[in-house]
Amino acid sequence: MSLTKEELAERLKSRLEDLDSFRGYAGDEAKVRCPSCGDSENEQSAHLYIKVVPEELVYFCFRCRYSGRVDADLLVQLGIADHDLGRELKSSGNSSYSGKRKGKTLSLLTKPVRIELPKSIEVVIR
Ligand SMILES: [Zn+2]
Repeated sequence: MSLTKEELAERLKSRLEDLDSFRGYAGDEAKVRCPSCGDSENEQSAHLYIKVVPEELVYFCFRCRYSGRVDADLLVQLGIADHDLGRELKSSGNSSYSGKRKGKTLSLLTKPVRIELPKSIEVVIR
């Protein structure tokens, strides 16, 4: 099975809309309760904004700054039991949206990755 990006976005939308934690849309972004911080005490509000446009399936929580590209892990956290969708997200190249890196590093980009660089060694020439 292989979905187009448009179909993928549509399917994600309908899955999100089925959630108890879904709180409507703000433009292209679906608002859901954030699974990372548990969101605010006000049950009517939601801080995790998930952008559901075909070229850019990304999420951002305005409360805890939880963010990244929509992937299978996020679906699990949200309680979406749609393994096909998770698999499609992985193979769709949603991770390539940064556009700059291609090839072998691509699979690393499905999640924000922070790489710690060793502190630079200062060479002092007198
Ligand atoms: Zn959050």
